[in-house]
Amino acid sequence: MTSKEQRGIYIHIPFCARKCVYCDFLSAPRPDTVVRAYFDALIREIRMTSREETEYGPVSTVFFGGGTPGLVPAAFIARVLSALRENFDIRQDAEITLETNPGLMDEQKLSAWRAAGVNRLSMGAQSFDDRELRLLGRIHTAAQVREGFALARKAGFDNINIDLMEALPGQDIRSLQKNLEALTALSPEHVSVYSLILEDGTYLAEHLPEFPPLPGEDAERAMYWHSVRFLEKRGYRQYEISNFAKPGRACLHNVSYWERREYLGLGLGASSLRRETRITNTQDLSEYLRFTELTDIRKDVTHLTRQDAQAEFFYLGLRKKEGVSLDEFRDAFGADPLAIYGPVLVKHRKDGTLGEDGGRIFLTRRGLDVSNYILCDFLP
Ligand code: SF4
Repeated sequence: MTSKEQRGIYIHIPFCARKCVYCDFLSAPRPDTVVRAYFDALIREIRMTSREETEYGPVSTVFFGGGTPGLVPAAFIARVLSALRENFDIRQDAEITLETNPGLMDEQKLSAWRAAGVNRLSMGAQSFDDRELRLLGRIHTAAQVREGFALARKAGFDNINIDLMEALPGQDIRSLQKNLEALTALSPEHVSVYSLILEDGTYLAEHLPEFPPLPGEDAERAMYWHSVRFLEKRGYRQYEISNFAKPGRACLHNVSYWERREYLGLGLGASSLRRETRITNTQDLSEYLRFTELTDIRKDVTHLTRQDAQAEFFYLGLRKKEGVSLDEFRDAFGADPLAIYGPVLVKHRKDGTLGEDGGRIFLTRRGLDVSNYILCDFLP
C-alpha cells in the first residue's frame, strides 16, 4: 500500500470552537491573538526542523489534525503549506489532508484550501441525528454535514473521509443504522467509525448521570459489527480496525503509522518517529508559543530499542486488516519472528484471536473484538 520511502508530516492544530463532551484531545477554544501566535511558532518549528532534518524527504503525505484545523483562517493553512514546501521536499502528488468540522465549511474556505494544495478532507460528522449531535456538544447539525459535503464536492474535493461515532449515549442499532444510511448516501471515499470511549476528566465522564445510558460492551460490539457489515456491503473495504475505504482510497498518512514509516510531527503535543527515536513535543501552549530552540519543546525523547521496534511492528501492524508479514519482519530486523514471538503467536492462534495465511498474521473476527488485549501482548 505504501512504499518504503514514504515520509509524512503531521501538523497539530490545537483549537476548537467548543469542547465536545467526550473529548480528551489536546484542543481548546482560544482567542485569535493566541491562534496567530501559534502559527508563528509553528513556522519557526518547521524552519528549525528542516535545518536539522536535511535528508528528510521526499514527503508524500501531510496531515493537518487537531483540534479543528478547519476552524482557523485558510490563509494560516496556506502559510504552513508554503513553509513546508520552502523547507522540505514535498512531492507534487502528496496526499494533503485537513480535518474539519462540517459546521465550518464555506465556499471561500474550501476554495482557499484547494488553492493551497489540500486535496483530502476529513469531516468530523460523528452522527446524522441532531439530537445525538447536541448531546455530544457538537457545533454542527446533520444538515450542515450534507451542505458541507456538497460544497466540498463543488470545490473539487474528490477524496473525502467522514468520521462517525457509535455506542453513543442512548444509541441502539436502529439509530446507528440511520446514521450509516445517511452517511453512505453521500458516498464519501473513506469512512472512519469509532466507538465512543468514556475518558476520565471529560464533561461526559463527570456528568454521566445526566446523559442517557451508554450501551454496554455487548451492545457496543454488536454496533461495531453492524457497521462493518453495512459498510462492506456498500463497497467500503475495511483496511484497519476502525477504517474503511473505497478501492485505492485508504488514507496513506495513517497507513504509514501502522507500517512504522518515519514521520515528523510538528506543533503542540505532536510526536515524531525518526531514526528509531520517538520525540513528543510539550503539551503546554505557553511554553510552545515562546520556544527559541527545538530542545525547549521536546519533552519526551525515547530511543527505541530493537525489542521496542519489533514489538511496535506487531502492535501497530496488526491493526491493519491484512495484518503483518513475517517476511517483512525478517527483512526489517534480520531476526526470526517465530523465535521471538512464538509463544504469543501460538497462544493466540490456539484461542482463535490470530490467524495466519500465506506468511501473514492477522486479527481474526474474534481477535478484533479483543484487539487491545491481543496487541498489548506483543509489548515488552
Ligand atoms: S471537534 Fe474534535 S478535537 Fe475538537 S473538541 Fe470536538 S472532538 Fe475534540
